[in-house]
Amino acid sequence: MSEEKFDAIIVGGGMAGATAAYILANAGMEVLLADRGDYCGAKNVTGGRLYAHSMEKVFPGFAKEAPVERLVTKEKVSLMTEKGSLDIGYSSTDLGADPDGASYTVLRSKFDQWMAEKCEEAGVMLVPGIRVDSCVVEDGKVVGIDAGGEIMYSDVVILADGVNSLLAQRLGMKQELTPKQVAVGVKEVIQLGEETINQRFGLRGDEGMAWLSAGDATNGAFGGGFLYTNKDTVSIGIVATLADIGYHNISIPELLDRYKEHPAIAPYLEGGESIEYSAHLVPEEGIHMVPELVRDGVLLAGDAAGFVVNLGMTVRGMDFAVESGRLAAEAVIRAKEAGDFSKESLSSYVDALEESFVMKDMKALKGFPTILSRREVFKDLPEMADDICKKLFTVDGKPSMDFIMYVINSVTAHTSVEQLTSFVSDIMDAM
Ligand SMILES: Cc1cc2nc3c(=O)[nH]c(=O)nc-3n(C[C@H](O)[C@H](O)[C@H](O)COP(=O)(O)OP(=O)(O)OC[C@H]3O[C@@H](n4cnc5c(N)ncnc54)[C@H](O)[C@@H]3O)c2cc1C
Repeated sequence: MSEEKFDAIIVGGGMAGATAAYILANAGMEVLLADRGDYCGAKNVTGGRLYAHSMEKVFPGFAKEAPVERLVTKEKVSLMTEKGSLDIGYSSTDLGADPDGASYTVLRSKFDQWMAEKCEEAGVMLVPGIRVDSCVVEDGKVVGIDAGGEIMYSDVVILADGVNSLLAQRLGMKQELTPKQVAVGVKEVIQLGEETINQRFGLRGDEGMAWLSAGDATNGAFGGGFLYTNKDTVSIGIVATLADIGYHNISIPELLDRYKEHPAIAPYLEGGESIEYSAHLVPEEGIHMVPELVRDGVLLAGDAAGFVVNLGMTVRGMDFAVESGRLAAEAVIRAKEAGDFSKESLSSYVDALEESFVMKDMKALKGFPTILSRREVFKDLPEMADDICKKLFTVDGKPSMDFIMYVINSVTAHTSVEQLTSFVSDIMDAM
């Protein structure tokens, strides 16, 4: 393959890279998609919920053909303490009625392989099992890639190599990540069987549930727990901030074990068999960690560009990956038409991102990392809720204290006027 020249080389066959490759090949370009995994998706990790809107733009009606697990029709959010859980549930037949507003549970190893097949059908040259070491730079312009000494040339390179993006770091477009900027996600897939899942979670057919928890899942630190129902398995995991590991003094794998044993969770998992365990980093500083997105001959997409919104118990990155992959590809098509792959020409990608939900949502949610890093959200709030619920639901023959007084006592035990004022002020600043 050495000395071969492509129109575009894409590094990373995750959702961002595969989307970009598919669009470029459909536009008639010669595209190489390189991934270090034995197959695309081999090591890719997600919690499990894909918001469909950006996939619909690239693969309309994809859910009829792609290996999605279940359509999410039931939502559950829990505030957990060591023994208790205040649950808010919502279900509606409207959830998923509109394809753009639907969300599906997915397992990435299957889903990414499906996207890779679509790329190959469109004419992409897919090369799995190849680790790209660096970009080739000539006269300040990226002109190809170097994989173990083998050089491959192209007009443009799209880096979709995930959260670390060592290649963007080597180009100086991105800084080395600090513990404050990334969370760690650990996830287990547990085999339960389709019937058992439907019975335990109150589901029928392809209906699915997304269950997010804050509080005890991370022992009161920023982050949360998730449980998604797949066809015959559940994906259960924890996302916790690296910088908080000292705070909760429990390793993240131990947090997942605790979560699985929580009295509100354990009955759902009984008799299940663990069939997969994975861990992965999650960008978590939102817009504050978006790097330089374009240089002469190169663009960044997906996690490599920091396009993730991490609200602690929920992480959203796959729809950002697909959208940014699509917009990067469209900018490359415009550059090809103009015969100009300079930074200025490729910057139409940045303009398109600004107009899209990617940058709009990243900006709208820019204050959330600050708000959510406060202990009120993940420790005090669940404990307060637990106190109040315990009182509300217990009748034990002892004289009832005035309920309002009880609530006030509980609130003041967990917070102060100063704390509340500064919390509200953080929220106002974030808006
Ligand atoms: C625990 C966890 C839970 C999450 N939950 C959700 C969720 O429920 N919903 C949601 O929308 N998002 C979620 N996310 C985020 C989401 O998974 C990511 O944002 C998304 O996968 C990013 O896609 P990507 O294509 O940019 O990167 P990736 O999927 O990481 O793909 C990068 C690809 O690059 C390849 N690669 C890397 N380096 C090289 C190299 N040097 N040479 C060749 N190939 C290379 C890798 O093999 C990989 O295939 C979660 C993330 C985690 C970790």
